[in-house]
Amino acid sequence: MENLDSMFKPKSIAIVGASRDPHSIGFSVVKNLIDSKYGGKIFPVNPKADEILDLKCYHSVLEIPDEIDLAVITVPAAITPNVVEECGKKGVKGLAIIASGFSEVGRTDLEDKVVEIARKYNMRILGPNIVGIMSNPMKMNASFGPYLPYPGKITMISQSGALLIALDSRTWVDRVGMSYLISIGNMSDLDFADLIDYFKNDEDTKCISLYVEGIKNGRKFIDVCKKILEKPIVALKSGVSARGSIAAASHTGSLAGSGKVYSAAFKQATVVQAYTLDDLFDRSLALSLQPPMKGENLLIITNGGGVGVLATDAAEKYGIPLKDPPEDLKEKLKQIMPEFGSAKNPVDITGMASAEWYGKALKIALQHPWVNGVTVLYCETSVSDPRELSMEIFEATNCNRVDKPITVSYIGGEVTERAIEWLQKKGIPVFRSPDRAISAMAALREYGRFIEKGFDEFYRFEDVDTEAVRSILKKIKNEGRDYVTEVEAKAILEAYRIPVAKTMLAKTKEEAEELSKNMKYPLVAKIVSPQVIHKSDVGGVILNIKTPEELVNAFEKIILNVKTKVPNAEIIGVALQEMAPQGTESIIGSTKDVQFGPTVMFGLGGIFVEVMKDVSFRIAPFSKSTAIDMINELNGKAILYGVRGEKPKDIESLSDAISRVSQLVTDFPEIKELDANPTLVYEEGIKVVDARIILEK
Ligand code: ADP
Ligand code: MG
Repeated sequence: MENLDSMFKPKSIAIVGASRDPHSIGFSVVKNLIDSKYGGKIFPVNPKADEILDLKCYHSVLEIPDEIDLAVITVPAAITPNVVEECGKKGVKGLAIIASGFSEVGRTDLEDKVVEIARKYNMRILGPNIVGIMSNPMKMNASFGPYLPYPGKITMISQSGALLIALDSRTWVDRVGMSYLISIGNMSDLDFADLIDYFKNDEDTKCISLYVEGIKNGRKFIDVCKKILEKPIVALKSGVSARGSIAAASHTGSLAGSGKVYSAAFKQATVVQAYTLDDLFDRSLALSLQPPMKGENLLIITNGGGVGVLATDAAEKYGIPLKDPPEDLKEKLKQIMPEFGSAKNPVDITGMASAEWYGKALKIALQHPWVNGVTVLYCETSVSDPRELSMEIFEATNCNRVDKPITVSYIGGEVTERAIEWLQKKGIPVFRSPDRAISAMAALREYGRFIEKGFDEFYRFEDVDTEAVRSILKKIKNEGRDYVTEVEAKAILEAYRIPVAKTMLAKTKEEAEELSKNMKYPLVAKIVSPQVIHKSDVGGVILNIKTPEELVNAFEKIILNVKTKVPNAEIIGVALQEMAPQGTESIIGSTKDVQFGPTVMFGLGGIFVEVMKDVSFRIAPFSKSTAIDMINELNGKAILYGVRGEKPKDIESLSDAISRVSQLVTDFPEIKELDANPTLVYEEGIKVVDARIILEK
């Protein structure tokens, strides 16, 4: 990928559409560049003006004598293609197109045209439909946002322009320091992945922060992000509620909302997720200032029991539950607190605590090898001056040579506010509630986990029979079907070495009797019909058939049941299979996401999966170790690891099967949805007893 310096570190900028009307965007951008003390050259362009804000104005970019790195285009959408053409002729390198009225209002044609012209001249586009670019290191406000953000080390990229402007002002109130604030707009050319790829090498950026409405090329996003472990990336995704577009017939389809899929993608991309706008700020700030937390042991130091309990709750909620510290650490801490204090976690040095006590406790904690991170909680009291506390905290962290993160929560009044400001300026993230300080620490831990685990490397299973699957799918296609029978679905899974209850199709009861001679009773009989989606709902499944007589009866009964309940059902026959022993019912499924392609789901509950909703997702393909992460994410994972005297289940075979499914759906994109439900899990091995595949039309 070529360098985007011309876009983000330009030496010269043309503002095409510069204006003398103080209420226009074209005026604003010129003024903002001047006001922000941009050090490069500024060239306003307007066919009808000779001077704007004391700068010489050119009638066309072609008239500008110097080279132009970046053109900020503020003309209306309709004439943008002409302007872009001129920029191309001039040899401009990057375009930031502010105008709206493109794909966001359905004018994809106009947007495509602009992109086509830009490609012809090798120009890159940011936008259209953007606010612009703000850069503190470049002292460049190439936008119509009011002023440069509070300076710092976060580079924030936002898909919403309005939100970006709002956040710009907020950074000053919350003192959340930004390096770059970038509006990415319609992403006609440069997308999140391109910008992340660029800013991973930017020295002024310590954390890349994203506000995401939708990612265009999911695969590219994951591939770019996951390789960047040296710099944290944090993302807030909006629009995570259940998506209507997946009105699917499968279990998996109905459980895959865009929220779940994005969460999965972020994990695989090693991107830390944020959950609200405040959280995005808090987490970005902590990640831009503090080192990652390199272990699970968080110690909380507090002068109040209430905030301590709130923080304890938050720690559990955000996935870093508190543990009891070792005895020697407790002993050391006890020496600096009154008798009635507590050296457990949270460490309560009591309302009597002075700033000095805090300083001592913090030093002890940071130096102890058990401790991986510390959150300090403070409630303003009359026995302690928060400004002194800030100095103590700074001193303790400053002389702490070990690289451990710290987050702080202060609750108090005006003096406390000053103390917060002072400490923040020293590079320590301070928040106004324990919940936020803990969430920020959880982000540091999440980043630490990504670094420890590294990114998931997928190696193909070579023992799979792709040819067998191809020929089954071909036969179905040749017969003009999109319905795949259970017998075929299981054969497909079997070709990928996923254990299934062997199934055969009987078209008549005589055939059923004949087939059963080579099978081991008890048997199971099931209807095979494209119109019957949930077979047991219509009496289409009979279990525990013990004799050939029972088999004939079952055959007739199933046909009768289905004919009565689904009169229009086209009956292909009855599937016969051996009855599998009881096991833990789980589901392995797959569905497709518009942006990320095939996804795989794992869940517990078998037929109750939609009720329990205890499922996890990942983007396919992925390795067995990611499959184990999926299992571990379930609330009910204890069922698989053995509860109430039961032996643990075969996690190894289960994760193997989940990973193999992820390869299957990647190898065969014509598989639209897949449900292996139930997949029975045993102490040894697993067995898929029902399988359904829906093909793309
Ligand atoms: P559907 O989901 O269409 O109603 P299934 O094939 O999943 O039909 O069968 C319903 C239930 O019957 C399954 O959830 C499972 O509990 C049980 N079952 C189905 N096939 C077998 C089998 N071969 N061995 C043991 N139990 C089975
Ligand atoms: Mg089923």
